[in-house]
Amino acid sequence: DRTTCWLLGDQLNPDLDVLDAADDVLLIEAHGFADRKPYHAHKLTLVFSAMRHFRDELRERGRDVTYVRAESFGEGLDEFFAERRAETGGRDGDGEDGDGDGDDSPHLRLMRPASHGAGDRLRELVAERGGTLELVDNELFWTTPSDWREWAGGEEGDGGDEDGDGPLVGADGAAERTYRQEHWYRHVRRETGVLMDDGEPVGGEWNYDDLNQETPPDDWEPPGRPAFEPDELTRETHAWVCERFDTWGTDSLDEFAWPVTREAAREALDRFVRDGLPAFGRYEDAMVGGEPFLSHSLLSPAINLGLLDPREPVRAVERAYAERGVEPGAYDPEEHGEFDAGAAATSLDEFGGGDSGDEGTAPSGDGAEEETGAAADEEPAPVPLNAAEGFVRQVIGWREFVRHVYREAMPELADANQLEQSRELPPAYWDGDTDMRCLSEAVGHVREFGYAHHIERLMVLSNFALVYGADPAELNEWFHLGFVDAYHWVTTPNVVAMGSFGTDVLSSKPYASSGSYVNRMSDHCADCRYAVSRTTGEGACPFNALYWDFLKENEETLRGTGRMGLMYSHVDGKDDAEWESIRERADQVRELAADGEL
Ligand code: FAD
Repeated sequence: DRTTCWLLGDQLNPDLDVLDAADDVLLIEAHGFADRKPYHAHKLTLVFSAMRHFRDELRERGRDVTYVRAESFGEGLDEFFAERRAETGGRDGDGEDGDGDGDDSPHLRLMRPASHGAGDRLRELVAERGGTLELVDNELFWTTPSDWREWAGGEEGDGGDEDGDGPLVGADGAAERTYRQEHWYRHVRRETGVLMDDGEPVGGEWNYDDLNQETPPDDWEPPGRPAFEPDELTRETHAWVCERFDTWGTDSLDEFAWPVTREAAREALDRFVRDGLPAFGRYEDAMVGGEPFLSHSLLSPAINLGLLDPREPVRAVERAYAERGVEPGAYDPEEHGEFDAGAAATSLDEFGGGDSGDEGTAPSGDGAEEETGAAADEEPAPVPLNAAEGFVRQVIGWREFVRHVYREAMPELADANQLEQSRELPPAYWDGDTDMRCLSEAVGHVREFGYAHHIERLMVLSNFALVYGADPAELNEWFHLGFVDAYHWVTTPNVVAMGSFGTDVLSSKPYASSGSYVNRMSDHCADCRYAVSRTTGEGACPFNALYWDFLKENEETLRGTGRMGLMYSHVDGKDDAEWESIRERADQVRELAADGEL
């Protein structure tokens, strides 16, 4: 029987097994969602342009593709079913679809969508139209739901596996729903063999994060963002997006440089591995005024669209480490050191990491070896282990982890709000208009690029919203609308659980901090109108009073949670007069922020 592979807009990979096994392909460009909310113009352009390029690429490969543009999936399916029945003669009343088996119902196969409940909803839509929809595992994640179940031990509250690395926290039984990313990460490293050497982590440690908290010196130059010039199809798509929808953020294409095809995505990966990876770890948490990208990979939009399989960046980084690897911290980008290939190879051998790259290769294609771009003929810099390990942890640790936490914790996760925070987001999140330099930079990056890096997302954008008291669901929607890499499955755990501490399913303490964190990790505070050294009074950094007030307000929930003891010893050390001025300043800051005057 004929099987149609239906691929969603975040499943745009031509090398999928599910595609190979199908007779033809269905893509539905459903755009009604964008009528309802103001998405970033670059986000809509990226998704629709990538879908259209994917359609063309599949057709060039000789695939039979039905591409439907519609308001909704339901309408898209109506059109597809009508076309299919007309094509096969099923409509002529003989009750057959033309393949001779007497069956008039199109059969579709779909990789399980990442979004909660979407699989069932789409199956119903197909069934209502007389067809069948078969859901199969989503190949675009490295680990499967059964891998997770095996690790998590099946039952909720069943906290341990045999080596004591169980997923759940709960010393006193109170927080038995908190999954530990670090343990999941180690488990996946063991299972996949990534950066493993005879069953042990390469270099002897699982995690080199202590080396990954530096800020670059003033004269350090980040590698630069690879620019993928929008082609005709992207320009056309963008013009249509701007005309058709009310969008948010810039409507100019000048700063649109995201890969929209698999080929470009692979080139972006090569560029990152060659140029960005050496300093990735060291400056991973840094924020620098006027430098939105630093050494980040900028690969999340491509990975989340399916243009890259998550195994590819991980294996590419592992290979780069095998070829150019040095000990943790051994390469210092501040010294702009010349790379001595011979020295790196020696140090790698000594280090026992030499065969880690042989364990696996990217699943498809061979483009990763091609050198492209301006610096292609220069010797690339060494890859210290803390960079390689730091990167793979983001993908097989965090990315896979949040996906499963989302699956486990939905639907409650979307509305989780254990701190009962309900303030509306301040207008600065929409217009970027604030004198707080860290916040205006971060919002500015989102407005201009639909992107801000991880620390801006966590320690500025969600940290501010958290201590301000914003509604987690509204913050989640803000991220969802504004970021080019945002999908419900990935924003919801990151924003509601990690950023807003709406639930302790993912971390046992909130990521809340005063201005001192931003001061330590950025150059923002020196040029800011607000004084990071002061907590109270006019001109004091807004983060400070909000932070202390937040701890005080949420004492009942937070005091007993893991790792908050030190913070509460500081809370206990403040006298009534101090609390009075903190409260006064916090109230003032909240009022100014709500009025757009901060
Ligand atoms: P890099 O710093 O180069 O990291 C490499 C890769 O690791 C990323 O491309 C991404 O695929 C993966 N990764 C790292 N951390 C995470 C994580 N916590 N969750 C999922 N993947 C991770 N990521 C998204 O893909 N979409 C989102 O909408 C999104 N929203 C976020 C909101 C908040 C409040 C926070 C704290 C994090 C969010 N993240 C999101 C995770 C992370 O910040 C981004 O993946 C990362 O900044 C993307 O930029 P990059 O590709 O340059 O990442």
